[in-house]
Amino acid sequence: MKIDQNKILMGVVTLLAAAVVVLGVMLVAQEAPEERQQISVDDSVDRHDHDEDEDSIEIEEEKDEVEIQEEAPVFFSTMTHLEGDWDFVEEREEGFDRQAGYLRMGMDYAEQYDAILTFESEMPFARAMVKWDDNVFQEALDRGMGIGTHCDTRPTEPRSVEEFAADIAERKALVDAVVDSSENLGCAGAGGLNDWYGGMVGAGFNYINGIVGFHYLAMPLRERPEGWDNRAITSEYYHYTAPEEDDLRYYPFRVSSASFTEDPSGELVVSAGDIGEISSIGDLALAGETGWGADCSPNCAIDMADVDAIEDAIRSFVETRDTSRVAKLQVYISTQKFSDPGIELFFERLQALQDEGVIQWASQKEVYEAFVEWERN
Ligand SMILES: [Zn+2]
Repeated sequence: MKIDQNKILMGVVTLLAAAVVVLGVMLVAQEAPEERQQISVDDSVDRHDHDEDEDSIEIEEEKDEVEIQEEAPVFFSTMTHLEGDWDFVEEREEGFDRQAGYLRMGMDYAEQYDAILTFESEMPFARAMVKWDDNVFQEALDRGMGIGTHCDTRPTEPRSVEEFAADIAERKALVDAVVDSSENLGCAGAGGLNDWYGGMVGAGFNYINGIVGFHYLAMPLRERPEGWDNRAITSEYYHYTAPEEDDLRYYPFRVSSASFTEDPSGELVVSAGDIGEISSIGDLALAGETGWGADCSPNCAIDMADVDAIEDAIRSFVETRDTSRVAKLQVYISTQKFSDPGIELFFERLQALQDEGVIQWASQKEVYEAFVEWERN
């Protein structure tokens, strides 16, 4: 919203700067009120000399308001994946119903606590929504949530870019079959030794999320963290949060290759921001670690330590963040964690952080769209 206004503003200001020179005070008097407010944001056009006293006061107030909003937002998102090996959701309706039920539980909480969840599907669940005639993804959109595709593409199986793009496109098409394709702009995953840039762009995706250690496999050693050779990644670091550098991880950026090298001319936005898996975060933090699998995984309970560690991660990021850039943090929530008795602690805490203005809930797609608006500015 803000950035659209600014874009309009740039045009209007340019026009007006010229017009003011030519027409002087006459134009000022004829300007529509809305345009006058926008113009007042730009200090280079000093209008105060020309305005009536009363108008000047009003404009001054508008200006303050706009300047406060110029700090780029800190979004908070989630990922929930309907996995690639879930044949059971197609084979048995009760298997599908159980998973769909978890998503609905999550949505009930999200609505109660002003949160926005994002669900991302691989092929089985997408097909199962059609087979069992239960479009929980459209329901999610109708309830203000976000959706996307999940790409559990085999990380160590070499493919040509064309083959890889076709693999990803197959997944995209199955999700596009249940929702409007304009809602399905990104895929979580696709990391591995294949060219995930070419694959994602070739399949028609605009952003990639769910970035983990696997994504480094596509890069030469010199672009990886030290010690992350193929063997170390596939045995140890494959599910670590990535990119490794905070500066890259918490700010969406554009790339033109399967790398974490920013290139504003690229066709794919890398949207990472991962803090980790919701029920492991506290356990890992106690051990001085971050990321995904704690020892209790996948049976960790969501407890106060997790919620405290999530808040700590958010607050310590926000303290030193670059306020000029769109930022995003996220946690991973598997479907069954929506039935964890501790899940409400999480939603409560995030609601308090949003009410305090520390974070703003958004779907993965909304983060992407906000980034695109921001980069145009
Ligand atoms: Zn997966």
